[in-house]
Amino acid sequence: MILLKNRFTYKSIFQKSKLPSQSHVIRTYKVLAIESSCDDSCIALLERTKPNQTPTIIDHTKKTLNSAAVGGIMPTAAYTYHMSTIANMCIEFCSKHNLSAQTPPDLICVTRGPGMAGSLSSSTEFAKGLSVAWNVPLIGVHHMLGHLLTSFLPTKESEQKQPPNYPFLSLLCSGGHTMLVLSKSVSEHEIIINVSDIAVGDSLDKCARELGLYGNMLGRELEKFINDIPIEEIEEFKILPIDTRLSNKYNFKLTLPYQNPKNGKFQDDIIQFAFAQFLSNIQSYKKKFINSNIIEDEKIKRMIAYKTQEYIFDHIIDRINLAFKRHGLNRSKSDGKFIGVKDFVCSGGVAANSRLREKLFNNLNYNEIGSNPLNFHFPDLSLCTDNAVMIGYAGMEIFEKLKLKTNLNFIPIRKWPLNKLLSVESWVQVNDDEINRVCKYNL
Ligand code: AMP
Ligand code: ZN
Repeated sequence: MILLKNRFTYKSIFQKSKLPSQSHVIRTYKVLAIESSCDDSCIALLERTKPNQTPTIIDHTKKTLNSAAVGGIMPTAAYTYHMSTIANMCIEFCSKHNLSAQTPPDLICVTRGPGMAGSLSSSTEFAKGLSVAWNVPLIGVHHMLGHLLTSFLPTKESEQKQPPNYPFLSLLCSGGHTMLVLSKSVSEHEIIINVSDIAVGDSLDKCARELGLYGNMLGRELEKFINDIPIEEIEEFKILPIDTRLSNKYNFKLTLPYQNPKNGKFQDDIIQFAFAQFLSNIQSYKKKFINSNIIEDEKIKRMIAYKTQEYIFDHIIDRINLAFKRHGLNRSKSDGKFIGVKDFVCSGGVAANSRLREKLFNNLNYNEIGSNPLNFHFPDLSLCTDNAVMIGYAGMEIFEKLKLKTNLNFIPIRKWPLNKLLSVESWVQVNDDEINRVCKYNL
């Protein structure tokens, strides 16, 4: 039964004969997007009727590889997972939205990189197939551009909120990346702070696992675990000194990265994030103070969880504030790069964390870069973690504003710096006729 049903739906998205004729279909500019750069298989459908209009998210769906038992994402498992999910998910999704060879979307967008090679290629190859079968242009999208532009999409929390204006700053914080980016346009991005070891999401996940938490998205589990700590304990942990120079009754010590001079010299020439030390700190504490390496005292576990999350986010604030000093108003010490920036975007999976949002909101020294408070943009929670909506929107912007599409000879890019968005192969210039044909804004 299932086989027959699948065969029917498979046929229905490619076969022309059984479907209504084109003249009966009211056409609008629709974008089908596919994302599978890591462990999520995602599909989305977006629609736009006017240039520069916020697109409507018609639908989006996601399936995630469960890695909880393995304790981390295995690239081969992710590849196999996407290879077995993407095609069927897409067929089901297209059937639901009446997308077929007769009524195809107008543009197909797929994540080209950065990400895991196998994960990326399972979708890029499938998207190429759809593009050929339906004769629809294809855009190979930069995953981090997707996260960065998420703030232009509608949020449930504040439908009326204005999108950011260029130039704006983005803190992109996910399982694979952590960076502060200055964006001047869709294609001009300068990486102001990058990460020197592991990403913040990876660090939160690893720390949570080390503390014995279980789940697929451990950063989120850690936040839930901390949110359940009784208020009296939070008050106690808040004032607990854990700076390495001070002692406390738990003997737990922690410093913010890059606070101690190495070789008598601060290494602040390049501002970087570093998150690996938070895990080693927990590991060495367990070795030194906990019998059998398991934290059985639940209160100690809660204290470490709370302090570690606080310090991880304080480190982010500390580095961004240093960047504000370097690039702000103080002409004698700064190059003035951030002057005029009024909007601050926080996006990526970790941006879902309410404590991080609160800290950014309250602790960034915006006075360093301008006299007014910054406008903060936190995308909708469902769009913070990986999704195909952001890929569809970024693809639309590339097509319409940069007038580019991707040649079918393109290959996925495992490492693709955001500041090298256009300096990779396979971009193809499109002319206004093709843009008008696809977008149909004039009709
Ligand atoms: P992404 O790579 O953008 O899909 O984001 C996934 C990362 O975000 C994983 O490391 C998650 O643990 C992390 N994450 C998701 N939700 C939260 C949250 N509420 N607090 C902290 N980290 C989170
Ligand atoms: Zn991501």
